[in-house]
Amino acid sequence: MNMYDIIKKKRDGLELNEEEIKYFVEGYTHNKIPDYQVSALLMAIYFNKMNEKETLDLTKAMIDSGDTVDLSMIDGIKVDKHSTGGVGDKTTIALAPMVAACDVPFVKMSGRGLGHTGGTLDKLESIKNFKVELAEEEFRTIAKENGLAICSQSGNITPADKKLYALRDVTATVENISLIASSIMSKKLAISPDAILLDVKVGKGAFMKDIESALLLAEEMVSIGDGFGKETIAVLTNMDEPIGFAVGNALEVKEAVNTLKGKGPSDFHKLCIELGARLLILAQKTSTLDEGKKMLEEVISNGKAYEKFLEMVKIQQGDIRSIENMDLLPEAQHIIEVKSSKDGFVKSIDAEKIGQLALLLGAGREVKDSDIDLAVGIELKKRVDDKVRKGDVLAIVHSNNMDKAKAVEKELKKIIEIGEKNKIAKKLIYGEVTRKGKRLY
Ligand code: URA
Repeated sequence: MNMYDIIKKKRDGLELNEEEIKYFVEGYTHNKIPDYQVSALLMAIYFNKMNEKETLDLTKAMIDSGDTVDLSMIDGIKVDKHSTGGVGDKTTIALAPMVAACDVPFVKMSGRGLGHTGGTLDKLESIKNFKVELAEEEFRTIAKENGLAICSQSGNITPADKKLYALRDVTATVENISLIASSIMSKKLAISPDAILLDVKVGKGAFMKDIESALLLAEEMVSIGDGFGKETIAVLTNMDEPIGFAVGNALEVKEAVNTLKGKGPSDFHKLCIELGARLLILAQKTSTLDEGKKMLEEVISNGKAYEKFLEMVKIQQGDIRSIENMDLLPEAQHIIEVKSSKDGFVKSIDAEKIGQLALLLGAGREVKDSDIDLAVGIELKKRVDDKVRKGDVLAIVHSNNMDKAKAVEKELKKIIEIGEKNKIAKKLIYGEVTRKGKRLY
């Protein structure tokens, strides 16, 4: 077998077999195949696509390229949740304790943010001393004792994906459904949860800009989960405007904690309840969405979800004083209000542009090793379809640099578009895909 023939086969639109896929994944991981040959293959895959079998084989080869985590010593059905990336997406921080408070073990190895969508680990690090780097044994012990742990990927998990993703990034081959699906699912499956919930974001601030392509990605990922015998549900959710009001690490932690106390923004609260109810179904705690939703509302109103979060912070060595008194979380030096220059309705708030402005303030990473500023970000005060009056505060900029704050203020006035009332009501959830098929709402 040689790489030239594999490239040629895919170039000519033929199906690669399991051995060929394994050969290039292993060879590339161990530096035996050069970047230029793998780049050519990726471009051939980009144009000629992979079928379901090839995508499954690719996922398997990427899992086999590194270590896997064994969670079998933790009792119960372990669930994991993944978002394809959104602006202001602090969902895991609120959802994980909600679900764990319903006695479902929630174990998650998470990523750091790159680009305009932030990472859960960065957000959690706004809590002083919160330890995200857990050794595998420590992660398992905490998950077993507390039923909840969130940490960074330990060890050598899916090294093939790390190399391939980096190469795709610089060869314009990221946007292929099979490559995205296998990349995401290999990382999930290497941690061996029993069931997986996927939040597939759709819209201006998401990878998938339209429902059709999001559906294809969702179907591909559900089919991979199924192929590995793991029940998987994918929910398509709106990412045209940011989730909730807060975009920026410490600001998002505050919003997630407020949501755990029942005082969060309504869209974000609803998103957590919708996703959480599906996680409870996957964990076989309930068979209906309505009952799942009721269980989650109850752990919010009786304080159990918040208590669970505090327990997680304590066990992972974070300073719980900064949660009990959130004024102790990192705060920016400059706080600038952005005011509306006219009466009307909020027509749109482009999530991607908001993410880019948060990045400019220092809330995210331009490149893998950049430092981030945990205190800065954008706090929206209005959402799409809200009525506004001239002089109303539309957003607050939190910055540690006055020049950047002023530049962001100017841009926000353009991005938060005020006009006539929107004719079509916005939707939070567009549909879902399970192994039984797809449903659009
Ligand atoms: N996220 C991933 O982990 N992989 C992709 O290919 C795209 C998004």
